[in-house]
Amino acid sequence: MGYLFVGNWKMNMLCKDAKQFLANFNYKKKNNEAWLAPTFTTLASAIELKNFNALDIQIGAQNVHWEQDGAFTGEISALMLRELGASFVIVGHSDRRQNNADTNNTVSKRAKAAINAGLKAIVCVGETKEEYESGKSSEIVKQQVIESLEQIDSSETLSSNLILAYEPIWAIGTGLAATAEIAKNIHTVIREVLVNKYSQSGKDIKILYGGSTKPSNIVELVKQDNIDGALVGGASLKPESFLEMIKITEET
Ligand code: PEP
Repeated sequence: MGYLFVGNWKMNMLCKDAKQFLANFNYKKKNNEAWLAPTFTTLASAIELKNFNALDIQIGAQNVHWEQDGAFTGEISALMLRELGASFVIVGHSDRRQNNADTNNTVSKRAKAAINAGLKAIVCVGETKEEYESGKSSEIVKQQVIESLEQIDSSETLSSNLILAYEPIWAIGTGLAATAEIAKNIHTVIREVLVNKYSQSGKDIKILYGGSTKPSNIVELVKQDNIDGALVGGASLKPESFLEMIKITEET
C-alpha cells in the first residue's frame, strides 16, 4: 500500500528556494505520493518547474476562499488555483483556525468550493494541548470532523477528492509527535465518522497524521491502521528529510 506525503511549507520559501528545492527533489514515484503546498506567491513558479522537470508530484495551495469571485480583497478562489495548475488545497489548518478565524463552518465551505472546482481538499482537524490534557481529544476531533464536513455530500469521486488530516495542535512544530497509539486511536474515531457519513466511500478516504513527523518516527506512525500518510511541516522544507520520509516508508 502506498502512503501520501504532503509538505506544507507555510509562510516559508521564496521562489528561488522553491526552485532549489525542486531541483534537488529527485523522487521517482513508486508506491508513495509526494505533494507540496507552497505559498500563493510561489505556486506559479513551483508548478512551472514541476512541469518543466516532469516531476511526479502534485502542487497545491494552503488555503482557498469559498466564493468564486467578488469583493473579497486578498482572497484566492478555487477556480484561480485550478487555472494555475494546482491540484489540491489544505483547508482548516490550525494556524488558520487560530490566527485567521477559520471555524468548522468556514472550513466546510472552503472544502466544498475546492471539491466543486475539481481540487482535492485536505481538511485539517486537531485538538489543543488543554483539550488533550483534559482527555477530550476524541470528542473534540469527532465534532470538528462532523462540522467541517457538513457541506460535503457523498459522491462517486469523494474518496479521491477528500482527505482528512489529524494534526494535534500540541504536536505541530513542537518536536513532540503523538505516539503511534494516540494517533491510531484518533484516526479510528475519524474513520468511524467518515464511514457513518459516507458509507463505503468513507472507508477509502485517506486520513493523514501531522505533527512533528520526521524520518525517525514516520515508520511507526504509518504502520498503524487508518494512518494513510502524513502532513509534514518542518521536515518538508528540506528535500533530503522529506525524501527520506517518503522513501523509508515505501515498503512499509
Ligand atoms: C503542520 O504545520 O502542518 C505540521 C505538521 O508541522 P510540523 O511537521 O513541523 O509539526
